[in-house]
Amino acid sequence: MKAAILNSATKSLQIEEVDVPPVLPNQIKIKVKACGICGSDIHFILHGKMKATYSPCIPGHETSGEVVELGENTSRFSLGDRVVVSAGTSCGKCVHCLANRDNLCEEIGVLGFNQRGGFAEYLIVEERYLHKLPDDIPYAQGAILADAVSTPYHAIKYQGDLKPGETVAIIGCGGLGIHAVAIAKALGAGKIFAVDIDKGSLDNAVSYGADEVILLEKNMQVGKILKEKSGGIDLLADFSGFMPNIENSIRSMNRGGRIVLVGIGRIKLEIPMPFFIIERQIRITGSYGSDRRAIPELIQLYSEKKLDLTRSISGIHKLEEANEYLHALEDKKGNPIRFILNPELG
Ligand SMILES: [Zn+2]
Ligand SMILES: [Zn+2]
Repeated sequence: MKAAILNSATKSLQIEEVDVPPVLPNQIKIKVKACGICGSDIHFILHGKMKATYSPCIPGHETSGEVVELGENTSRFSLGDRVVVSAGTSCGKCVHCLANRDNLCEEIGVLGFNQRGGFAEYLIVEERYLHKLPDDIPYAQGAILADAVSTPYHAIKYQGDLKPGETVAIIGCGGLGIHAVAIAKALGAGKIFAVDIDKGSLDNAVSYGADEVILLEKNMQVGKILKEKSGGIDLLADFSGFMPNIENSIRSMNRGGRIVLVGIGRIKLEIPMPFFIIERQIRITGSYGSDRRAIPELIQLYSEKKLDLTRSISGIHKLEEANEYLHALEDKKGNPIRFILNPELG
């Protein structure tokens, strides 16, 4: 089959013919119809920031496609079924996995990084990673449910514990944060503030339901501005990884407020006013990926017409154009949200 292979020497993807492995018991083979290019692929492929644990490495962790072969012991799918593949991999046996909290698994991994991903004509995965995709959700929109939409969903709903009517602030409105805005809206948030350093990302946020935007400039105290504009934030989710924003936002939090850290930065987080946090019972928590609950619940929100991802698909391209669109995403050329690769094109 044709696949986009990581070449870590040239920091790019190379289209090559590779063998398709046999379908083992408990596995299902899908013909890839769409695979999203994620911001983490930029770090992984263009900057060599993360190392693949297998070779040849085929990235891509936002995959949808059609079931074309069923391994022994599989039972939930039929040939021709439309499916989405979870981005996260896990052991499937530990206490967390058995409780559907697989993103807490000790052996957590990500498709593409730890095993072959979706930048290829075919993908073979364990049946437990698959979710049925209804006919009315296009493959491209289905694919991004795997990470771009499910990661913020987990952050907002489960780690952030959003309740209807609450005031929400989203810092960082790129591929993930933008969907945090959409999800907060879908789950009935009151007022939504979107914060970013990029004007185009804030325009996207407005189109997804942000009530007010803050264009962040250097040394700006985002917390102070949020406090003035909102009177108090109940849920703040950070997708930027820039910890000074968190530090100065603590004072903008309401009693019982939650701060959810999703963006991964290398700056240390200092807690400047512990008593403020203690007395107001403010929770600071992390959120990583999503668990098995996310994709089916997102499909439900979609079917209730509470979630429209049409604008999230910035273009559907050939596998051969992967490098070009990795760079276009990094350069934010044309204000993209998600570019999709479809190996069936070209
Ligand atoms: Zn991703
Ligand atoms: Zn596990």
